[in-house]
Amino acid sequence: MSNKLLSHFIAGKFDPGAATETIAVINPATQQTIAQVPCATEQEIDRAVASAKQAYQSWRTVPIPERARLMFKYQALLKDHHDELAKTLSEETGKVFADAKGDVWRGIEVVEYACNIASLTMGQTSENISSNIDSYSYTHPLGVCAGITPFNFPAMIPLWMFPIAIACGNCFILKPSEKDPITPIRLVELFIKAGFPPEVLQLVHGAKNQVDQLLTHPDIRAVSFVGSVPVGQEVYRTGTQHLKRVQCMAGAKNHMVIMPDADKEQAINCLVGSSVGAAGQRCMAISVALLVGEAAGWLPEIREAMAQAQPGAPDDESATFGPLISQQAKQRVLDFIQKGKDEGADCLLDGSNCNVEGYPQGNWVGSTLFANVQPQMSIYTEEIFGPVLITAPAKDLDDAITWINDNPYGNGTSIFTSSGWAARKFQNLIEVGQVGINIPIPVPLPFFSFTGWKNSFYGDQHAYGKEAVRFYTQSKTIMSRWFETNNNQSSQTFSNM
Ligand code: NAD
Repeated sequence: MSNKLLSHFIAGKFDPGAATETIAVINPATQQTIAQVPCATEQEIDRAVASAKQAYQSWRTVPIPERARLMFKYQALLKDHHDELAKTLSEETGKVFADAKGDVWRGIEVVEYACNIASLTMGQTSENISSNIDSYSYTHPLGVCAGITPFNFPAMIPLWMFPIAIACGNCFILKPSEKDPITPIRLVELFIKAGFPPEVLQLVHGAKNQVDQLLTHPDIRAVSFVGSVPVGQEVYRTGTQHLKRVQCMAGAKNHMVIMPDADKEQAINCLVGSSVGAAGQRCMAISVALLVGEAAGWLPEIREAMAQAQPGAPDDESATFGPLISQQAKQRVLDFIQKGKDEGADCLLDGSNCNVEGYPQGNWVGSTLFANVQPQMSIYTEEIFGPVLITAPAKDLDDAITWINDNPYGNGTSIFTSSGWAARKFQNLIEVGQVGINIPIPVPLPFFSFTGWKNSFYGDQHAYGKEAVRFYTQSKTIMSRWFETNNNQSSQTFSNM
């Protein structure tokens, strides 16, 4: 048990501040309290924003190649500390080490993208748009931006946000998840070590109250949020009502279509890994398999593979996944498993009573498989966020596409097939923003953007890639005319401009 009080990073100093309210950070495998996270007071958040606002005045003028050079140093430091970050991350999230390393690595890739900021923020020019007149545009930062991140990727998702925002010339306030704030603190420490002016990045802890203050703060121009659908909707409404740019990456229900001509072994391996990996706590996890035609007969093999994929301690190399993040998250998943049975789906594998030797207090749920799920069942309509795979037969590809397009979420989907025609039809007709063809979790690399659709995203510019550069910047367009000395014959009308 540790009562170590964690620190905010405000105005260039790590300090736990004056919070009267703290939240315990709990190891999900052991239930041990690792630390206490302080909830920032109103004055602390005001101080963080004021400090960022002041720092912005000089940060925005730092030459772009210099910003990029600092980002290169940050990338190198993150790489040097990769395993150490993954170990911290694994302890506070319960992720198995291989998953924890992936979480850090996918974040580093975004930092690499941000190193490219000079070409990403180049403007446009047009010569002679009228007689002796040229026009050109510059990309300017916005000012102070904020990011609110979820528990499930405490390295990758903060790194989706602040490196690009800061490389663009903004200053940034990060409010990480209160469930696993230690990895984000370490990301900030390394950022400062890379040589950035300390006030360009501020870290404040807390939950709803702190988020609400950021969303309504007059000096914050843009807010990036990643989290669940209900919170995302609330954040989007409040932020936009307060006239901010807001992008909300939200929850999901991702389907995999398995065609009867798919490579059976590959499809089943990918299905199982993508549904129960990270205990199903990924926004791109496959939670529904639509088994087309004869593929519906593959359920015994799917069950067998699911039964072999079981949880274990984060340092157990044979474990497929770790515990759920909290006791509440575990109870929520158990309630869904019960609802699935009550609503009449066939439970082919039940992970409700799962124990891991040596970890009697862990938030364990074993791999769970449902068959013959109907579209109105709550295990289909809601995001479960646990190691629960639900399946349904589909008559043909059109039927599978209808299932997916009728679903309100649109984060990710995939098809397993050996038919190019089926794959192309699927990619063309499917109303989902990220599509895998014989790839189960098609998370785009950072030079693309993370393009969720429908209820999985609110806003218009997505996370990372060129869209994020647009999100964190504004254009200034200039028209310019120079007169020949002593030849002042300008006209103020549009027509002969
Ligand atoms: P969450 O919505 O509970 O919390 C996300 C953030 O919002 C946290 O920082 C939290 O402190 C804050 N928060 C919580 N309640 C709030 C409220 N009422 N008002 C304002 N802020 C509030 O999400 P989570 O449980 O941490 O993360 C899991 C969810 O995130 C899942 O739904 C998952 O699908 C989603 N997610 C989506 C993506 C994506 O890119 N689409 C990526 C990762 C996770």
